[in-house]
Amino acid sequence: MKGDGALEVVRAPNLEKALLLLSDGRPWRLLAGGTHALDDLGARATHVLSLQSLRPELRFVFVDAHRFRAGALATLRDLATSAGVREKLPLLSSAARAQATLAIQHRATLCGTLVEGLGAVPAALYALDATFDVRSSLGSRPGQTVVTARRPGPSELLTHVHIAIPDGRARQVFAAAPEGVSVAGVLVKARRRPLAARLFAASEKARPLRLLRTEQAMALGRGGWANAITKDLDPLVPARRALAVTAAVAQHLSEALASMR
Ligand SMILES: Cc1cc2nc3c(=O)[nH]c(=O)nc-3n(C[C@H](O)[C@H](O)[C@H](O)COP(=O)(O)OP(=O)(O)OC[C@H]3O[C@@H](n4cnc5c(N)ncnc54)[C@H](O)[C@@H]3O)c2cc1C
Repeated sequence: MKGDGALEVVRAPNLEKALLLLSDGRPWRLLAGGTHALDDLGARATHVLSLQSLRPELRFVFVDAHRFRAGALATLRDLATSAGVREKLPLLSSAARAQATLAIQHRATLCGTLVEGLGAVPAALYALDATFDVRSSLGSRPGQTVVTARRPGPSELLTHVHIAIPDGRARQVFAAAPEGVSVAGVLVKARRRPLAARLFAASEKARPLRLLRTEQAMALGRGGWANAITKDLDPLVPARRALAVTAAVAQHLSEALASMR
């Protein structure tokens, strides 16, 4: 322990010990990849818990025909370069590449990015209806959906992310549009059923929002859903750029739809 006000950085030897430290009442700040947290520690942080020593437990990506499972410390680069992710979850693979520069991809972690909540990867996780496990020394909250879960509390850690691989009828779409806007979605067209779309957009400055009007317009099968996209994206896009962003997203969605026929 350091003197008053000095910064103490602790590396937990394993997950159980990390959870115990987090419950000891001290104001811990977590450091995963550190790309945001280091920037944000501020003068008042005195207790920093580095998660890097948990990499043997929490840095992995597993994909099979039915599910994706990854540890909190998998990096964006791990996601971008995993052959399994590229094959089964191309949406997540594209989002990881689009989220940040190569240098940041190598450091930034899956759960650090999820907690920050900005950009392409959170949008992809929302579109894929990902769930995650939250643990504390008191127990776990498994299978929290990203859309409804509250942010982790001060003594909690996100430990794993799970995704059910969309079935063969689903088309995964990802569009990187102007103004740093990313649109991520899953489109499903079953015989004699309306198209089901699950679409989210996010930007470098905004958390994911669901494109409900666009989903409805696509389900109704009417062309010209540019209007719906423009309205949905309004909170993310400055009015003067709305046309360019809408056009890019509309083109991408049209191409995805055409490829499903
Ligand atoms: C120079 C620079 C450039 C950047 N460029 C980009 C960019 O291009 N695109 C972009 O999207 N972002 C960028 N960022 C922001 C940042 O890189 C992202 O938000 C990043 O994804 C955070 O991941 P991390 O693993 O580094 O998290 P950290 O910075 O270590 O932590 C981020 C937050 O998440 C919490 N946290 C981390 N892991 C867990 C866990 N397992 N359980 C609970 N809480 C946790 C931490 O307490 C902290 O509040 C940049 C940052 C910097 C400094």
